[in-house]
Amino acid sequence: MQKEKIMADKFAAYTKRNDFLICVDSDGCAMDTMNIKHFRCFGPCMVTEWGLEKWKEEILARWNELNLYTMTRGMNRFKGLVKSLGEIREKYCEIEDFNRLEKWVEETAELSNDALEREIGKADSVCLKKALSWSLAVNQSVGRIPEEEKRPFEGVKEALKKAWRDADIAVVSSANPGAVLEEWDLHGLLEYTDAVFAQNSGSKSYCIKELMKRGYRPEHVLMCGDAPGDLEAARQNGVYFYPVLVGREEESWKEFQETGLKRFLEDSYGGQYQTEKEKQFLENLGEK
Ligand SMILES: [Mg+2]
Repeated sequence: MQKEKIMADKFAAYTKRNDFLICVDSDGCAMDTMNIKHFRCFGPCMVTEWGLEKWKEEILARWNELNLYTMTRGMNRFKGLVKSLGEIREKYCEIEDFNRLEKWVEETAELSNDALEREIGKADSVCLKKALSWSLAVNQSVGRIPEEEKRPFEGVKEALKKAWRDADIAVVSSANPGAVLEEWDLHGLLEYTDAVFAQNSGSKSYCIKELMKRGYRPEHVLMCGDAPGDLEAARQNGVYFYPVLVGREEESWKEFQETGLKRFLEDSYGGQYQTEKEKQFLENLGEK
């Protein structure tokens, strides 16, 4: 399958093949790439950038809690940074010019390196500069993760293979499109994928909405994801949600293959099963 063909950032190029559509998130859902990025890149780069070595262990543990194991899982990196630095200044030490960064994150229309760079051009701020330097260091450090360590979770390929027989499969991710394509291709997942929509295609909610215009009924669309943002995207479109639970990913994909997929295709996903899956998902992220 040609990469260009699948790189459908224009929804017009998308062709409906089945009556059922399964949207699958990539990072932390199909690909086991989220823990490693937070463990090795995001948190440690913040410790280095702000010289927080003295409290390293506690700070990294809290970073992971906020970005992986609670309801803020999957939040934008700059939001995560402000949340963490905000706690650090209350608990450990002063963060110079913190309010300037907090203000930018609250007010900017775009949370990206480019937007941050433009802001630095307008305001001479230590904290904004540090945030950019941190974000670039994170990208470099993510780029150094060896290919062989970015793998799909156990059971993903089998599940997609099975699902692809009766449903269209679209990757719906907010990650970098090049990285998603490369990872999915390397592990043979593109074979069971009809299209890839990433960061440059719009929000997840928007992607699902656009795909539904191809003529899928809402009860024949399923969003499969690992973060509250995925659940939200499903809810906004009135479609079903299947959670890949953090720490229990293998088990989640096994259940998808054995139960979730079958129920979805047999129109018995709604009601009790969907409620139960959502409850499990929220509880797993510490929500009562
Ligand atoms: Mg994810």
